[in-house]
Amino acid sequence: MRTTLRLPGRAALHAEIHTSTQLAMLAGNHRWRRFVLGAGSNLVLTGDFDGLLLQMAIRGRELIGEDDDAWYVRAGAGENWHQLVLWTLAQGWPGLENLALIPGTVGAAPIQNIGAYGLEVGERLHALEAIDMQTGRTLRLAHADCRFAYRDSVFKQEGWHLDGQRVITRVTFRLPKAWQPLLGYSDLATELEGQRSSDANDSPNTRPDSHPNGHPQGQADSQATAWQIAEAVIRVRSRKLPDPATLPNAGSFFHNPVVGASLAEQLAIAHPGLPRYPQPDGRIKLAAGWLIERSGWKGRDLGRVGMYEKQALVLVNRGAACGAEVMALAQAVQADVRERFAVELLPEPVFL
Ligand code: NAP
Repeated sequence: MRTTLRLPGRAALHAEIHTSTQLAMLAGNHRWRRFVLGAGSNLVLTGDFDGLLLQMAIRGRELIGEDDDAWYVRAGAGENWHQLVLWTLAQGWPGLENLALIPGTVGAAPIQNIGAYGLEVGERLHALEAIDMQTGRTLRLAHADCRFAYRDSVFKQEGWHLDGQRVITRVTFRLPKAWQPLLGYSDLATELEGQRSSDANDSPNTRPDSHPNGHPQGQADSQATAWQIAEAVIRVRSRKLPDPATLPNAGSFFHNPVVGASLAEQLAIAHPGLPRYPQPDGRIKLAAGWLIERSGWKGRDLGRVGMYEKQALVLVNRGAACGAEVMALAQAVQADVRERFAVELLPEPVFL
């Protein structure tokens, strides 16, 4: 099975899925366990899989509607996420730019409600289609049906993503025409500021971003354009995160823990500089990468796996590691963070 962490593991059976009809034909078959694979960018293989692997390859992306307020864009579950983001921007439909360069497929994006730099995909999702693998029927889930939460959705809440009970085939996004740049994250704002300063030294005719691809949409006042934001996100991510093609990894390995206000307060007294992000419910989000770094794991290996030297939240496979080594490292990191901060880190990827 191909995954970005490149751990060994084979599936007993494999089917490449190009249409929802193919999926519907496989419905109701209880003989084999099922697992749906997109790009394998959020998956830890712990061994072989004695079941049927459904490799999602449903393609297609199109504008299916437009009103005064928004563009509606539909894409197949097997489309590459980052390519979809770039394509929407090239069409002049901004709104997904903060989510540039996230690995994975369109169909996987809503499952864990992918998020980056202050935007979650759930905020742009209008509806999705899925096949019920018991009945073969097509289900249509509106935004509210998806029960989006922080890196969470109904697919995870109900465990549908683990046994392929409901398989996402197409996703429709709503991209509002009243576009506003989302620049609340300091890394992104700093990157754009740096770019603006260097552009100010260029002649106006040579500035590449004054009208991205000739599309004026995506500009708010004199602030950054959607293209500039996407480019800045790509630069920041490329600097901080390892490319799975050269250093296998599954992105962020742990969720950012959300704790009670009083624990966060106590921790901040004991550990000055602790990043704290208040949540709407009064709890406080902590940065898992910071906790891991302060527990001594940034750039540290255990056997053939380690926590990445430029971003401690990313677990990397330094060569020919197996799932057991990944689990051993994850447990060692969890134990040290627990001992030092009394905070429990939960893994973000799916374990198969
Ligand atoms: P960072 O800037 O080092 O910040 C560490 C954490 O603090 C982030 O995870 C982020 O939480 C939180 N944070 C930072 N600024 C914040 C703000 N203004 N308001 C609320 N929370 C804030 O993070 P990073 O590791 O370089 O990642 C940057 C962004 O890319 C983050 O949004 C991160 O989630 C995303 N990312 C996602 C993956 C993935 O595999 N899912 C991998 C790498 C990066 P949040 O994570 O809640 O945003």
